[in-house]
Amino acid sequence: MRALMAHREIADLEAKIRHHNQLYWDNNAPEISDYDYDALVRRLRELAPDSAVLEAMGPSRAALGTPFRHNEAMLSLDKCYSPEELADWTASFEGEVVGTPKFDGIACSLHYDEKGHLKVAATRGDGQVGDDVTQNALRIKDIPRRIGEGPREVRGEIYMRLSVFAKFKEEGMANPRNLTAGAVKLKDAEKSAAYNLSFAAYDIVGTDDQTQEAELERLVRLGFPPVDHVRVPKEKAFEAFEAFAKRRPTLDYEIDGVVFKVDSLKEQRRLGETAHHPRYALAYKFQGDAGISTLREVEWSVARTGAITPVAIVDPVALSGVTVTRASLHNVAFIDRLGLTLGAKVTLVRRGGVIPNVEHVTEPGDRPVEIPTTCPSCGGAVTRIRDFLYCDNPQSCRHAVIGQLLHFSATTDMLGFGDVIVEQAYDAKLLTGPQDFYTLDVASLMKLDRAGEKLAKKLVAEVDKKRVLELAVFLRALGISELGKNVSGILASRYRTLDAVLAVTEEELAATHGIGETIAKSVVQGLAAMRPTIDALRAHVTFAEEKAKAEGPLTGKSFVFTGKMVAFARSEGEKRVRERGGDVLSSVTKNLTYLVVGADKSGPKSTKEKAADKLLGQGATLQIIDEDAFLAMIQSSG
Ligand SMILES: [Zn+2]
Repeated sequence: MRALMAHREIADLEAKIRHHNQLYWDNNAPEISDYDYDALVRRLRELAPDSAVLEAMGPSRAALGTPFRHNEAMLSLDKCYSPEELADWTASFEGEVVGTPKFDGIACSLHYDEKGHLKVAATRGDGQVGDDVTQNALRIKDIPRRIGEGPREVRGEIYMRLSVFAKFKEEGMANPRNLTAGAVKLKDAEKSAAYNLSFAAYDIVGTDDQTQEAELERLVRLGFPPVDHVRVPKEKAFEAFEAFAKRRPTLDYEIDGVVFKVDSLKEQRRLGETAHHPRYALAYKFQGDAGISTLREVEWSVARTGAITPVAIVDPVALSGVTVTRASLHNVAFIDRLGLTLGAKVTLVRRGGVIPNVEHVTEPGDRPVEIPTTCPSCGGAVTRIRDFLYCDNPQSCRHAVIGQLLHFSATTDMLGFGDVIVEQAYDAKLLTGPQDFYTLDVASLMKLDRAGEKLAKKLVAEVDKKRVLELAVFLRALGISELGKNVSGILASRYRTLDAVLAVTEEELAATHGIGETIAKSVVQGLAAMRPTIDALRAHVTFAEEKAKAEGPLTGKSFVFTGKMVAFARSEGEKRVRERGGDVLSSVTKNLTYLVVGADKSGPKSTKEKAADKLLGQGATLQIIDEDAFLAMIQSSG
């Protein structure tokens, strides 16, 4: 009986480890923490040390990029989570240890030839075979293309600085590691370079150095940025770990622990390695601040986008000194993935933020979590799109609209519009959408419970201050998914007017530096869906850019340039138009005034010319003019 149970547990563990391996390596989307993953591996090692899954641990080999076989396997490091385990390890050798941050990035090997030229960069892959990522590594500024000696193999980690990640975070990206993994495998080196990745070198193969620290110093001489490190007697390793842990919040990169290596390379060679790990190194990993509690209910709230998101309500539990009763469940699919049931014991982990995450189910509960079939705010229909549940009618859904109103007032910096006032104004039908801010008056505001004359006057005055907005702020205030600070800034500086922004196509936006297809789609479709609101807002809002724009002979006229200009550079032509008060658009629409066609006629008709021909056929009034006519117009208009 006992043997049968163990057999079942082994099969179960093997299946789980395979599943999580694939998520981690192939999909770059781990579902469980490293800590939990390691616990599974340890348990399997206990029960079945000979399991084939332990032998084959690591990724499958079907990955992007040309496969590259490492000369010497890139082994992963053995891990520990407690001072006792660390002490067990340090008892196995003599001397000092060198501690470096354990970067949470993508391990990579760089091969320099006899002349010191970078020949190949490859990811770790499964340790034996990685992916060639040379073209992208060449664009990482921390990686020297040439070092003063060779042949050498340099190993390190490609990662993204938190200061670089900040703008992606604002757009909803989950973590820098996933972005790094994606960026390093992009086929387009230009796009990859746009992610501004960094590299930390921690190993060099093929020198006659005597110590780990000497190798780190050599790497700096060869042109790699210095890696933060300490060298301490092995007895002081835990203190060194604590010192890193303390400094962690001040670092500009994510670390998930500290790597210790025996300093003496002679001692390292003596220790050697197992089939999986070098014996001379150990990664001491941070444990998130975790706790276990019982799930009592799941609350559903409606965001301004109409997304209906679940929040776990749990029995009070202390995490890093704070009593927690709510935890994030992200989206409806997450509940399925966790196998969450009411009454379940769940592990919660708090990582910096205020609200912790539910990491996994420790012990199943007894009742299923009910997924809403109607919107908890407006009672209307809901639709599930991939991982998310949405209210079908966010424009008329109380919580979604209130969320949108609060977002608009916060983004445009209208002071005084707190939750209570906005909710009351919504219920009194004073605020049904962002455009209504601009028609609020003192008398109607005073009818609300909370607003006396003084507050009402202050609110109206606040709104009046925001009748001129920067285009980027206006775009961001719309609350369209993916149209955050970064993307709205790009749109505003590139297209300059709201008309030009509204005329942008998905295709064109996707080709813009720093914006991919997914973002382009979300932004263009979001703008189209918001069009009635945008048009209503335009009656009240003018844009700082347009106000500042020169008034001139071409005011009210719009231009699109196409083809190759012979007499002047296109950018020069655009500048002349703007100086004279005209608008430069990026695509041909029926409201366009002039399409300027370049004099170089060697190629076929451009897409823009064809579009203009078609619109003319439909009765549009635009004019197609050549370079000469354009120049004459510019000269006659001063
Ligand atoms: Zn609703």
